[in-house]
Amino acid sequence: MNFIGYQCSKCGVQYGAADVTYTCPEDGSNLDVRLDYAAIRASASVDSISSQREPSIWRYLPLLPVGDPGNQGTQLWAVGWTPLIRSGRLAEGLKLKAMWFKDDGRNPTASFKDRASAVVVARAVEIGAKTIITASTGNAGAALAGMAAAAGVPAVILAPSTAPEAKVAQLLIYGAQVILVDGNYDQAFDLSLEAAQEFDWYCRNTGYNPFTTEGKKTAAFEICEQLSPSGADRWEAPEAVFVSVGDGNIITGLHKGFKDLSELGWIDHIPRLYGIQSIGSAAVTNAFEAGAEEIQPVQSHTMADSISVDLPRDGLRALRAVRETEGAMIAVEDGAILEAIRTLGREAIFAEPAAAAAYAGLEAAVERGLVASDERIVVVITGSGLKDVPAAMRAAGEATVIEPTLKALRDVVS
Ligand SMILES: *Cc1c(COP(=O)(O)O)cnc(C)c1O
Ligand SMILES: [Zn+2]
Repeated sequence: MNFIGYQCSKCGVQYGAADVTYTCPEDGSNLDVRLDYAAIRASASVDSISSQREPSIWRYLPLLPVGDPGNQGTQLWAVGWTPLIRSGRLAEGLKLKAMWFKDDGRNPTASFKDRASAVVVARAVEIGAKTIITASTGNAGAALAGMAAAAGVPAVILAPSTAPEAKVAQLLIYGAQVILVDGNYDQAFDLSLEAAQEFDWYCRNTGYNPFTTEGKKTAAFEICEQLSPSGADRWEAPEAVFVSVGDGNIITGLHKGFKDLSELGWIDHIPRLYGIQSIGSAAVTNAFEAGAEEIQPVQSHTMADSISVDLPRDGLRALRAVRETEGAMIAVEDGAILEAIRTLGREAIFAEPAAAAAYAGLEAAVERGLVASDERIVVVITGSGLKDVPAAMRAAGEATVIEPTLKALRDVVS
């Protein structure tokens, strides 16, 4: 394994792999996982990875801070390697020559969060954790419940009682102990930290457990590998990547993934990263626009529940991801998110609101002249539209109902 320890994302202090579990003991900030790049270079290459057949995140095992997770053939091995879908008419409509959707709704529990949960579960098994807990707006919990079920580890999920029904159904069906909190995500988050300590459970929380970004970075690996011709000795990075931001952990993970590849010399540039929030939950965007280093909490309200966060738990690293790559944070109206759900459907992409927000952000970026027409652009679709059917129906409008006669049909189709 090429995992050598951690480095605090704020104070820069380094810790050994066995010294800490979650955050920096000095200042409570998020820890970056440190890898031994020389050892990775010695044991793996673009060619050794691309020539394997493993169609999951585990094809990147030499770049992950966990060992083989076992449980071969279970849903743990169905995470990732989601398709990169070429956009046709939507790209044309935006006057872009090369645009793709990374369709992460196609993961086992239908969201990007499976990447993080799979790696956290692998870590939990390695350290002998008996139970894993997480706070979640829904998807992280569903992903943990699913991956924990695949590995046979008990999971406890705390989610706001307002979480969309489909996500709660997943939690229950995957057999997790589900506790809905009469409060918001931020309150569930704080409670889960206390519970983890009280009951000695391993905590998956986003923007707290350092292994979530290590799972999420695999999407960056896949984007580059999938954009490259087979047999290439280097991978191709796109010019820009658009992804929605709640806690800021996905964009941080993508940034880590591109940095890993750049450090290894496997790509020649890091894409500009664009983080998209709802105007109703825009704490990171506010800090970006103010040029601030600190993030002020907001009182979030947006229909995009997966990115409805008062205090982003990984906001500083998210800010750094967009600043260091010369991307931007962009906030969009909920109305534009609903519209984006409908637009994406025209290319057979069915996105939940938080996922569609990334596309609404691309539309805004095109309007502001932030992307050039010949750039390669990837929009990450972070969750399936089936996660939130009422939102989809709001976007779609009502279907026409008729008498079962040809005359009635003729009347509506003409
Ligand atoms: C969790 C989630 C996000 C946001 O990820 P963060 O790490 O919280 O920024 C976006 N879209 C979907 C569908 C999600 O589940
Ligand atoms: Zn620190």
